[in-house]
Amino acid sequence: MQLEAAYAVEISKLVEYVDRKEEPLIQVVRTHQYNIDSAVLQIARRPTTEVQRETRKIKDSIAEKTKERWQGKKMHGQLPPNLHEKLVDTEQSYRWLKSGDVKGETESTTVAAQDQAISTNYFKNNILNEETESKCRLYKQHVETIDHLTSGCPVLAKKEYLMRHDKVCAHLHYSICKALGIEMTDKWYTHMPKRVYEKEDVTALWNQAVHTDKEVTANRPYIIIKNQKEKTYILMDVAIPADRNVVQKKRKRS
Ligand SMILES: [Zn+2]
Repeated sequence: MQLEAAYAVEISKLVEYVDRKEEPLIQVVRTHQYNIDSAVLQIARRPTTEVQRETRKIKDSIAEKTKERWQGKKMHGQLPPNLHEKLVDTEQSYRWLKSGDVKGETESTTVAAQDQAISTNYFKNNILNEETESKCRLYKQHVETIDHLTSGCPVLAKKEYLMRHDKVCAHLHYSICKALGIEMTDKWYTHMPKRVYEKEDVTALWNQAVHTDKEVTANRPYIIIKNQKEKTYILMDVAIPADRNVVQKKRKRS
């Protein structure tokens, strides 16, 4: 869909390059371009600043229009308002797309899931109007939406969610210990956290119960960083920020 616009941008950039370069071969190209009659020539005759301005304008308007179209879609456009409304760090949330260490297939599946564009039973039943039951195929009780699959399925909760949770915590623990200067394995995914790590005044605890005066049921944060010198405790836990989990966590803690 953006082919035409991308073409315009590329042509403008190319013309600008040809107009500016003083290399003999580029000069030949320039002379040739001026001697033939082509659409490219029309653009080339414009002053450079105007070409630059146009290019920028085209680029900005492509990005703006794409964003508008995306956010205007009822199904696919749910992510931006969600990130915005729920006090989520947008910059951090998109950082994984910038680092470029994810396989193309993984990236496209994740983006598709974020855009609600995965063929769930809910999608087949409600959007495609197929004669498919909209309930979850693992346990036919809840509607099979992306939200349900990523954080609300009681069948997946027993093993898959737990595994994901533990891996995220292990990664966090690994990074913190490494930053504290504690010796760690080469790869984070081979890291099997021990209950206690110590480095000078800092102690990193893994999955330890905290004793409190008043009884607290959820008293086992995954990571505790104790700093004796600064007299601080940092308690960390990990959860998928779906409304359901946030409410549960609050209830458990209160
Ligand atoms: Zn389910």
